[in-house]
Amino acid sequence: MSRVVVIGGGVIGCAAAERLTLDHHEVTLFERDQLGAHASGAAAGELSPSVLDSDNQALAMFPEVVARIEKDSSLNVEYRTQQGLRPAFTPQEAELLKAGEGRWLDASECRQAEPALSSDVLGALLLEHAHLTPPRFVRALARAAAVRGAAIREGTPAIGFAIEDHQVRGVTTSRETIDADWVVVAAGPWTREVASTAGVDIDVRPQRGQLVALDPGSTVLRGSVFWSNGYLVPKGDGTIIAGGTEEDAGFDDRPTVEGIASLLTFAQKLVPALATASLQRVWAGLRPLTGDGRPIVAISEVGNLIVATGHHRKGILLAPLAAEQVAELIKGTR
Ligand SMILES: Cc1cc2nc3c(=O)[nH]c(=O)nc-3n(C[C@H](O)[C@H](O)[C@H](O)COP(=O)(O)OP(=O)(O)OC[C@H]3O[C@@H](n4cnc5c(N)ncnc54)[C@H](O)[C@@H]3O)c2cc1C
Repeated sequence: MSRVVVIGGGVIGCAAAERLTLDHHEVTLFERDQLGAHASGAAAGELSPSVLDSDNQALAMFPEVVARIEKDSSLNVEYRTQQGLRPAFTPQEAELLKAGEGRWLDASECRQAEPALSSDVLGALLLEHAHLTPPRFVRALARAAAVRGAAIREGTPAIGFAIEDHQVRGVTTSRETIDADWVVVAAGPWTREVASTAGVDIDVRPQRGQLVALDPGSTVLRGSVFWSNGYLVPKGDGTIIAGGTEEDAGFDDRPTVEGIASLLTFAQKLVPALATASLQRVWAGLRPLTGDGRPIVAISEVGNLIVATGHHRKGILLAPLAAEQVAELIKGTR
């Protein structure tokens, strides 16, 4: 059993904290603001398979993780598996999609599956995917960890480290220094700033993503629709989320006219009937993006400081896998 301090109460930090309590570690999690206050609470909640083994491995972990945290937290994370469509608007797009995995639907089958889809759609790939509500997922992970003994401290930034002989001995907040055998820095795009106070340089930066929730007043989409880098996701409350932009705007997480306008154009291209939907909400979050675009879950040059960040557009999907990797690093099996 080790004393582990997790820095960051986004999905990666909360998933790590939850997983580490299963190994009976004494876990303390510090969150500067509120749990899921940033990208993890802003995310759309899509969990899609891909050509990457890691994505599919992570996706396969959800039924067990969701059952466990819903039981222990008594919170419903609104997880469900669904069918979605990836449509083609040009013959070139159709050829590329047909070469991928999944059943190809021709134009009339598409219209049967999703009657509101644009008549310009030539066909679509049918995708099996899953979906949940990210703010609920983050809360359920943290509450399950707390039920198993973790201390979850919101409104408590970590401001420094006590370091001796290239090892972190403790994590300092404005009130105290907590002793630690291991530290997990999962501070999203702020990981560079946090790790630098331990002398560790992590190449991660923020990338803004904007979303808009549309209320069509009646059901216009049965499942999610993915095209290019964007998506339309129908939610349980009847709204449809259109997302997500990719912008280099530093730490500015405010939605912009240009960003939301591009999402509205995208939504109407896929589903023209959305032109008459009302705007319900606009928001944005900062994805953690590394220099090479790949996540980092590794022990740093400070021997007991683990960095877990850079999950970019897939942090919700990859959280159970990242948590498992953190547990393996502490166990010494990775
Ligand atoms: C618009 C948008 C849509 C997305 N949609 C999806 C999706 O559908 N599916 C998917 O899988 N992924 C999606 N993502 C990506 C996903 O949201 C991110 O990859 C993920 O949330 C990153 O989680 P994180 O815990 O690393 O970072 P964050 O959520 O940023 O959490 C880091 C936390 O660390 C805290 N922190 C910072 N400094 C300190 C400190 N000194 N002390 C203590 N705490 C600190 C911050 O307050 C923050 O709460 C989306 C992202 C965006 C922006």
